[in-house]
Amino acid sequence: MELQEIYQALGVSPAVFAYGERALERLRDRFAAIDRVAEYNQAKVLHAMQQNRVNATHFAATTGYGYDDEGRDNLERVYAAVFHTQAALVRPQITCGTHALTVALSANLLPGDELLSPVGAPYDTLEEVIGIRPSKCSLKEYGVTYAQADLLPSGGFDYGAIRSKINERTKLITIQRSKGYATRPSFSVGQIGELIAFCKSVKPDVKVMVDNCYGEFVETREPSDLGADMVVGSLIKNPGGGLAPIGGYICGRSECVERCAYRLSAPGLGQEVGANLGLMPAFYQGLFLAPTVTAGALKGAVFAANLYEGLGFPCVPTAGEGRHDIIQAVTLGSREAMLAFCRGIQAAAPVDSYVTPEPWAMPGYDSEVVMAAGAFVQGSSIELSADGPIRPPYAVYFQGGLTWQHAKLGILMSLQKLAEAGLVKLPE
Ligand SMILES: *Cc1c(COP(=O)(O)O)cnc(C)c1O
Repeated sequence: MELQEIYQALGVSPAVFAYGERALERLRDRFAAIDRVAEYNQAKVLHAMQQNRVNATHFAATTGYGYDDEGRDNLERVYAAVFHTQAALVRPQITCGTHALTVALSANLLPGDELLSPVGAPYDTLEEVIGIRPSKCSLKEYGVTYAQADLLPSGGFDYGAIRSKINERTKLITIQRSKGYATRPSFSVGQIGELIAFCKSVKPDVKVMVDNCYGEFVETREPSDLGADMVVGSLIKNPGGGLAPIGGYICGRSECVERCAYRLSAPGLGQEVGANLGLMPAFYQGLFLAPTVTAGALKGAVFAANLYEGLGFPCVPTAGEGRHDIIQAVTLGSREAMLAFCRGIQAAAPVDSYVTPEPWAMPGYDSEVVMAAGAFVQGSSIELSADGPIRPPYAVYFQGGLTWQHAKLGILMSLQKLAEAGLVKLPE
């Protein structure tokens, strides 16, 4: 068969290909449901662009201060319309997701305030931002304290603990939608909405920020539809659609977003400055593609779980579970298996397919990390990529794929490398 031949030319054996095809046959309904969400979100994005009369003048480059940058300002109106918020800050000057979160936190927390995470430990890089791990310029250094309520062993919210941690100094509550480098479940938008409602019932004026990284367009609603005061994310993940080469966004209530703009540029300057440097075509077109790109990545995640769970590797989410982000964790159980998996993802890449991923001590992470990515945009994790900290339980976090077909190839290649290393045996 022709398809099998081209896969074989790429290095996927007939046995691995056949195993993949068998798994796929069971996924037709799942894929159809993912396509329906993408269809809804495509319409949502289109509607936001039409409402805001996007036209060619919005694609013009600005330089210097970027005063009167109508393309930038209109993009922010489009983002606000997509996320149903009063305001948005969408900028290439926001260098990554951690930066966007840092801006949102430091703009809305003052000395003496307390930040609460009701969902356990935050994403690794935020530990230094908050000061959980001592760090220069952390929130802690500026007199902002931090409290945390851990999740119940079941993965649910510990409402009793959360209530007891909310005090008169609690100013901002941070909720991370995606699991990050943890093996807890990711939260649905509905679950996040319940948690927000609970926190606001305990303290009506508390502000809630959701770290929305990897969650955008996975469901038809976003946390901002259910009471979040800010949703924050990276443009080299879902909402950039693979085309944005840099950037981050903060969408939310005007009073919060305005403060973020002053923190990002300078008090008094705010949203008025910040040249777009010619990136508007990529930002607009990337957002336009984001719903379908996210759907392709989701199909990859579902496929990976079905493939690996069938071979006895624990997966979070499980093969049959609903999806709330594009991340698939596969617990491989050893350093060797993690490296083999990543070699496969790397070998499937359009860029740098010939290199071998090696573990390294990445800034912001407290253990060695291995990463596989052959991306058009460095570090872009809406592109096919896999990474994970080299520590027990040796889970690899797999995400992205600008097309479903590429995600499929990457997953098959990862399995191929495990099989070649004798780390997995395919069923007959
Ligand atoms: C990726 C990610 C971040 C940080 O984003 P960077 O762009 O890598 O700085 C924060 N939180 C979560 C949940 C993420 O997935």
